[in-house]
Amino acid sequence: MADPASIAAISGTLELVNKSVDLVRNLRKKGDNELNAAEMRNTLIDLLDDLVEVKSEFVSLKAVLLTKEQEIQELKAKLDSKQEFIFDGRLYWRVGDGTPFCPVCIEKDTKSIHMDYFAGNTEYKPSWYCKVCRNEFDA
Ligand SMILES: [Zn+2]
Repeated sequence: MADPASIAAISGTLELVNKSVDLVRNLRKKGDNELNAAEMRNTLIDLLDDLVEVKSEFVSLKAVLLTKEQEIQELKAKLDSKQEFIFDGRLYWRVGDGTPFCPVCIEKDTKSIHMDYFAGNTEYKPSWYCKVCRNEFDA
């Protein structure tokens, strides 16, 4: 749901646009003979004031929209990571993918980083290694 401030800003902007349209409409209704230069000048000044205000309202609305878009993208990313990953208690996995994802990178930075497999040797046990945060987990 849009927040009340955004709705109020949109309503205010629409009212201004309607007022400006009415100004022009009334100007058109009056015959050229009736309309004197002073009336015309005053109406144009009013129109310009309204248009400047509409422009500034749209700049604010654009900023609100950009913020909302960013929030939506962040929430989508969070939702995707929650739906697609399976946590086995240590590492995150995806269905059909034999390589796990680093739990530290996912939980701390919401970044899905595939881990590297180290087969192990006589000295070290096999493990999964994150090339970004450098954490290591026994395989
Ligand atoms: Zn990591």
